[in-house]
Amino acid sequence: MTLQAFVSRHVVTAEGVRPAALLVDEGRIQAVTAADQVPAHAQIHDFGEAVILPGLVDSHVHINEPGRTDWEGFANATRAAAAGGYTLLADMPLNCLPATTTVAALEAKREAARGQCWVDWSPWGGIVSDNQEHIESLAAAGVAGFKCFLIDPGIDGFSMVTERQLRAALPRVARSGLPLLAHAELATPVNTATGRLANADWRRYATYLQSRPDEAELSAIRLLLALCREYAFRLHIVHLSTCQALNDLRTAKSEGLTVSVETCPHYLCLASEDILDGATPFKCAPPIRSRENCERLWEGLREGTIDMVVTDHSPCPPSMKCIDDGDFRIAWGGISSLSVALPVMWTEAQRRGFTLADIARWMSEGPARLAGCGARKGRIAAGYDADLVVFDPDADFLVTKERLYYRHPVSPYLGQRLRGVVEAAYLRGKLVFAQGDFPGEAAGREYRR
Ligand SMILES: [Zn+2]
Repeated sequence: MTLQAFVSRHVVTAEGVRPAALLVDEGRIQAVTAADQVPAHAQIHDFGEAVILPGLVDSHVHINEPGRTDWEGFANATRAAAAGGYTLLADMPLNCLPATTTVAALEAKREAARGQCWVDWSPWGGIVSDNQEHIESLAAAGVAGFKCFLIDPGIDGFSMVTERQLRAALPRVARSGLPLLAHAELATPVNTATGRLANADWRRYATYLQSRPDEAELSAIRLLLALCREYAFRLHIVHLSTCQALNDLRTAKSEGLTVSVETCPHYLCLASEDILDGATPFKCAPPIRSRENCERLWEGLREGTIDMVVTDHSPCPPSMKCIDDGDFRIAWGGISSLSVALPVMWTEAQRRGFTLADIARWMSEGPARLAGCGARKGRIAAGYDADLVVFDPDADFLVTKERLYYRHPVSPYLGQRLRGVVEAAYLRGKLVFAQGDFPGEAAGREYRR
């Protein structure tokens, strides 16, 4: 492979945004240097005023293959990822069939992924009601960590865990040294609230919002923090939606508990006040809450209580979104945003005075560390994979179905004008996305520690 030099006036490095040249050979960044230090024989890609970001890492994606490939699949998800500026996806253990709760299921997923991926990927393992004895073997087989639900996830093939079942799993999780990603909502507050809404109008977003109260998240997070203190495992709270838990999380972190927190673009950039009745593309769990709640989540990011922003890309066939009848009770809860998450975030972040260095920390470095690939992914620095995104932060575009490269172009962002355009994405030095095209080949592979 010839030496390549990626040059820009604005390279987002861990030390800030600055002019630089990235010397790339064998798919790795060999050096970050000045543009006038590029060796004469290098093949130069000069992006001028466009920004070079580290390829984004999404540690929370539902690819749904094998088993529910008609919902998404590796080929579609990874192309949408490349178009959105992502170069590694960590795939959740549920919605696929079999769910990734045994090594055999993990091997089936690896087989399904082979030859189909346009970006790199990594698997999470699942912890369900009855697979505690599979935890060590999944860890040894290479999962990045584990995912569990404290409430019924509402899909065949993956069960929730009770506190007792979770306690049976936690010593094994702690010994593995891998993180446990927890869907933090407890069933009782949800069931109580839902019971009171039996005769409510379920086309109204307000009804759905009332059915998943802040209290469900807050009580689950308090339970998980107590268990984290007791068992000393690495706890990660997925898709934090309520600002009411920020105090507890801040305190836990200041005590030195090993807890990390993610939220999603839709909790930061959408507000319940704006969601029209029947608008089921906005349904996700936990739900999108008030504008004031959303502003407090931004504060949580600013102070570092929230560590990262991931998509929770969770597609389904359009019929399951109940778009025609707008019934929030039965519509699938999940929002797909791989192709647009970066501009969605940039549009709102830059209005609040954040920089692309903040975006890179939240959407690349943080998720890479969580997914166990922080030694090679998530930063622009010597020794890291040359996963690079060329981004025009000042251009804007209208979100149309053609801009959503995943299988089913359903999105709450359709019709929005967003700031920032992904112009190109490079995976280990090779161009995988450019101006709406996918040159090259599906050369993505599983990240192995
Ligand atoms: Zn999810």
